[in-house]
Amino acid sequence: MSLSFDPARLSLPEGHFIGGRYLPGPDAIEIRAPSDGRILGAIPQADAGTVDRAVEAARTALARSGWADLAPRDRVRALQAWADLIEAEAEDLARIEAVASSRPIAEAVPGDVAILAEQIRFFAEFADKEGGSLVPTGAGRMGMIASEPYGVVGAITPWNFPLSMAGWKLGPALAAGNAVVLKPSEMTPWSTLRLAELSVRAGLPEGLINIVLGDGPNAGAALVAHPGIAKVSFTGSTRAGAAIMENIARSGIKPMTLELGGKSPQLVFADADLDLAADCILRGITANAGQVCVAGSRLIAEASVAEELAAKIAAKMAGIAPGPTWEAATGYSPIISEAQLSRIDGIVQAARAEGAGVLCGGERLDRSGSFYAPTILTGPGADSPAITEEIFGPVLTVETFQTEDEALALARHPTYGLCSGIYTRDLSRALRMTRAIEAGTVWVNRYGRSRDHILPTGGWKSSGLGKDLGREAYLANRRQKSVLIDL
Ligand code: NAD
Repeated sequence: MSLSFDPARLSLPEGHFIGGRYLPGPDAIEIRAPSDGRILGAIPQADAGTVDRAVEAARTALARSGWADLAPRDRVRALQAWADLIEAEAEDLARIEAVASSRPIAEAVPGDVAILAEQIRFFAEFADKEGGSLVPTGAGRMGMIASEPYGVVGAITPWNFPLSMAGWKLGPALAAGNAVVLKPSEMTPWSTLRLAELSVRAGLPEGLINIVLGDGPNAGAALVAHPGIAKVSFTGSTRAGAAIMENIARSGIKPMTLELGGKSPQLVFADADLDLAADCILRGITANAGQVCVAGSRLIAEASVAEELAAKIAAKMAGIAPGPTWEAATGYSPIISEAQLSRIDGIVQAARAEGAGVLCGGERLDRSGSFYAPTILTGPGADSPAITEEIFGPVLTVETFQTEDEALALARHPTYGLCSGIYTRDLSRALRMTRAIEAGTVWVNRYGRSRDHILPTGGWKSSGLGKDLGREAYLANRRQKSVLIDL
């Protein structure tokens, strides 16, 4: 059966989700489908009072259900039941995801939703496997490090992979024994609401997951600053991450995890398998139309192969299949909004005006909806925003090098350090480069995460603070207490 669906016939959740119930409010923010610009609906704006209600609901849920003190195996089972229901409802959830976002339905069902369910199971399994420890002390004493949940965790997610990002936050926080108040992006809130609704239908305590709606400066800022939020977990732009740090510094210091932006280089050496590299680089910049934190947006290629490689990638770019996210044949995403499309085009046109070449693309696609052609820019200057700024669109720049040192110097971004790709058949070189590169993730002869959720993800420098995924994400949702007993 085809995955295609009619967006007009979709029933979308309405209101915040607090204490296991939808809480409608006056329409404040209109939501459009990036696929064709149609208005899909509107959401309310949470204020400090709404956030307060959500935090209270989370506290009550913790107190009534004893979630943090359940036998850990019971927590595992409860979360796994939620993952099972997510899988059973995969198509419905994916439709709600696809309609307002840039995620094509054919990727959302086997990709985003399936991975989300797996990640919840992955994190659930830590609940009865990670604990505190007894530590060596002098005679007559016993020292231990106890590990405890925070209580209520505040989470904020971006629009580019709404369900996956919600999973990154909810999975480890809940498995670790916390309750969560989450604010999804104001552009793509509905799938997260349905996800929370499914948690209640699967038997998780009402109020364990609460969703407040609204924009960053209002709802997001109120959530971060609430004294009942013990820890903040954020994914989004470096600019918003900095605003959150400032807010936390002013309103009361608390731990935070920040997953932020990037400008990730792809280093290709002349000995690499160029067809493999071309496939990986293509996916790294056209998946979700480049609206990916780890988008491999800078091709840095050894001069002797740069032209051949760029031509291979350009030829593959011609085969993209744009379309509405609700059609099963769609393989290429729209840009999330007209404002974001204008920003992408502005950077491309500025690079062109400064003398950069356009190997392909360089303009919006001639069709309805916010679509931008996959673009390759050759020779932008080192200071061009095309080279220095996170574009968050399908734009690949090409630079060349002669030596490893030159490659590393080009790859080094003054502020970002999220991710990088290396392509070579020389194992020693791969290891040398892996060590030298300043990034939280290095992919060698591949580009993109696998389904091995054990690998933590998170940026260096201004690309972030702390890790999502992996054991590290679970541990980041618990805090340590040192206990010393005189016997
Ligand atoms: P954004 O920073 O504009 O918004 C992200 C979220 O933060 C939204 O929910 C928004 O409402 C909220 N927000 C904005 N300002 C806020 C404030 N002052 N206080 C509290 N909340 C605030 O980002 P976006 O445009 O939604 O997403 C794209 C960005 O996210 C890119 O920079 C991308 O690199 C980054 N991202 C990073 C990762 C990662 O793992 N490092 C993953 C996905 C996306």
